[in-house]
Amino acid sequence: MKNEKPVLKNVFLTFDDGPNEPCTSQILDILKKFHARASFFVCGKNAQYYPQIIRKIVKEGHIIANHTYSHSRFLTYTGLLHDEIEKTQKIIQEISGKNSDYFRPPWGITAPRVKRYIKIHNYKLILWDIDSYDWKNISEKIIVNRILEKVKPNSIILFHDGKGTFHKSDRFKTVNALSVIIENLKKDGYKFEGIDKFNC
Ligand SMILES: [Zn+2]
Repeated sequence: MKNEKPVLKNVFLTFDDGPNEPCTSQILDILKKFHARASFFVCGKNAQYYPQIIRKIVKEGHIIANHTYSHSRFLTYTGLLHDEIEKTQKIIQEISGKNSDYFRPPWGITAPRVKRYIKIHNYKLILWDIDSYDWKNISEKIIVNRILEKVKPNSIILFHDGKGTFHKSDRFKTVNALSVIIENLKKDGYKFEGIDKFNC
C-alpha cells in the first residue's frame, strides 16, 4: 500500500489598511473562533492610534506587516519611500517588540524603485492572487462566491480591515463575508496560515 502524504492546502488571509476599529477586533474574534491565522498589513499611522490592537494581533499568533505610514500614493518620490517604510517599521517594533519582514505597497504599486528598496533592505514583498473586491460596491455574497470560486492551495487573499488612514471605516461587509469564507474553506480542507508560512 502506498503511503501517500496528505496534501497540504494552505491559504493566506491578508488584511490591509488597519487597525481600524471596531472591524479589526471583529475580524480577530472570527479568526480566533476558527483557529485561523492571518496577516495584517498595517499603516504606521493607524498602528500609532491603536497600539493595543497591534499587540493583540501579535499575541493571537498573527503576522504584522508593513503597509507604509500614511498609505502614500507617492512612494516612488525620493526620500518618501524610505521614510514611509522605516517609520512604520520603527512603530511596529516599538509597540510589539518585533520586526516586520513583510511589505505590501498601497494599491500594490510595485515600481522598480520600490522593488529595489525592498530587496536591498531584506523585506519580503507580498502581493496577492485573489482580490476580494471588498473595497468595491458589491455585496457580501458576491465577495464570498468570488473567493470560493477562485481559491487554490497557497492563494493569498486580499481583504481590507480599514480604508487608508481613515478612522472607523465601514468594513462590516468584510467582517460578515469572512465567517462564511472560512467555514467553507475549512470544509474543503484548507488551513489558514500567516504569511511566514508562504514560500516567497
Ligand atoms: Zn492599502
